[in-house]
Amino acid sequence: MNPALIAKLRRIGGDSHLLLDPDELVAYGYDATMGYRGTPAAVVMAETEAHIVDTLAAAVEHGVPCLARGGATSLSASAVPPDGALVIDTNRMRRITDFDAVRRRATVEPGVVTRDFRDFAAQRGLFYAPDPSSEAAATIGGNVATNAGGPYAFKYGVTRDAVVGLRVVTPRHGLLCLRRGAEDAVIDLVIGSEGTLGIVTEITLQLRPMPRHRAVRAAGFPDGEAALRAVAEIMESGITPAKLEFLDDITVESLERSRSWGFPRDAGGLLLIELDGDETEVRDETAGLDDLLRSAGGGTDSVDPVRAERWWEARRGITASLAKIRPAKIGEDICVPYSQLAPTFSAIKQAADDADVVVAIFGHAADGTLHPNMLYDPTDPEERDRAFSLLPIVADTGLGAGGILSGEHGLGRVKQPFIDRAYDPPTLAAMRRIKRAFDPDNIMNPGAMWPTDQQ
Ligand SMILES: Cc1cc2nc3c(=O)[nH]c(=O)nc-3n(C[C@H](O)[C@H](O)[C@H](O)COP(=O)(O)OP(=O)(O)OC[C@H]3O[C@@H](n4cnc5c(N)ncnc54)[C@H](O)[C@@H]3O)c2cc1C
Repeated sequence: MNPALIAKLRRIGGDSHLLLDPDELVAYGYDATMGYRGTPAAVVMAETEAHIVDTLAAAVEHGVPCLARGGATSLSASAVPPDGALVIDTNRMRRITDFDAVRRRATVEPGVVTRDFRDFAAQRGLFYAPDPSSEAAATIGGNVATNAGGPYAFKYGVTRDAVVGLRVVTPRHGLLCLRRGAEDAVIDLVIGSEGTLGIVTEITLQLRPMPRHRAVRAAGFPDGEAALRAVAEIMESGITPAKLEFLDDITVESLERSRSWGFPRDAGGLLLIELDGDETEVRDETAGLDDLLRSAGGGTDSVDPVRAERWWEARRGITASLAKIRPAKIGEDICVPYSQLAPTFSAIKQAADDADVVVAIFGHAADGTLHPNMLYDPTDPEERDRAFSLLPIVADTGLGAGGILSGEHGLGRVKQPFIDRAYDPPTLAAMRRIKRAFDPDNIMNPGAMWPTDQQ
């Protein structure tokens, strides 16, 4: 990295906030996406908003690419730095700076870990709904940048629905202070922009009252298609599940191999469903759900609260447990209309058989999201290539079913190459203009998400 820039970074934050040693930088070359790696030139451990403002200004002056980094749990390689990039790590910015009990709002720094914030809200009797399964490591800043969802997203919304204010440092326009209602259009551009328009330095979030009653059901089906057809029926029936998660047989097998959770191993497809609300609402919806599951050919196992907690914990651990089937994986994240869930599942399983790749499929079915995970052994280059060859097939299958490229993980570097399959040329041109309006020199997370000039 340019010595003048290094000297400037030292002046801005001091040596204790700057990593330059290649051995220390190695860990910053990865995120949770397997098979993607970059080589950053330096890492700044940001501690304040001013630190980020000055650091970004220095990077702009020297034309060095920049990447904000939170928990590095991205599954679309959006937190894998371009070679030579300056990584701006927000993990030292972990303060909850304001809490307004009357308006049920809290203001946080970007490095606050999602689960810590959800616990903070719960201790005050409030509910922070966005619950990505990575909540133990992901940060609120990263959740804003990816517009993270989770099992609660269908009923309670994704991160975007909770954000009422943002402060974001942009390369062209400096620090923007944005409030919902006044600057919605700009806020909604920044949310989900994967760190490509600026770095979020402060987030104000709306909390809700905690739902009072819950009931959990597990329903095993003979195969994945039957379970997904039942999802379409549940969603058409008017029942509003708080959570409705789908797991195929390979996913259940991987969980059971990692620990004995007690899932029904003989189910070809499994639905885990949570209903919540006031007592009468939960009772009525549960009765309707049980009838519907039975007539759809599924079991209706009532799950007691202790077992439900264990199973939700297992659900959050799926990504890690898949290593029990094959050591590595590349995950997809398509989202399709409910009527297309079962046919999309069949088409992907067929493609997996044709390519001789084991594909586990699970997802937040209430959103229409499916996560086909292509499993492989990294020491077997042919199997690895076969697994990666399914990426465009899965993307096209989802698009062909009337769906979208990403339900929640974003495009990052994994699905950026397919962006021109999803949008027409005028839309791609409009996207390029938006990116340039914020970042004319393309220094913010270049290579992630946006169409290139050639696409
Ligand atoms: C086991 C597992 C389960 C997951 N489950 C879910 C799920 O249920 N739902 C879901 O939506 N996702 C899920 N994910 C994906 C991932 O956790 C989310 O995308 C999450 O929001 C990323 O947060 P992070 O702090 O780790 O961000 P990082 O991975 O560090 O960064 C992700 C992107 O955000 C940008 N970024 C980070 N901080 C900032 C900032 N302050 N300002 C601007 N840009 C920033 C980065 O530059 C990068 O582009 C899962 C991942 C794993 C590993």
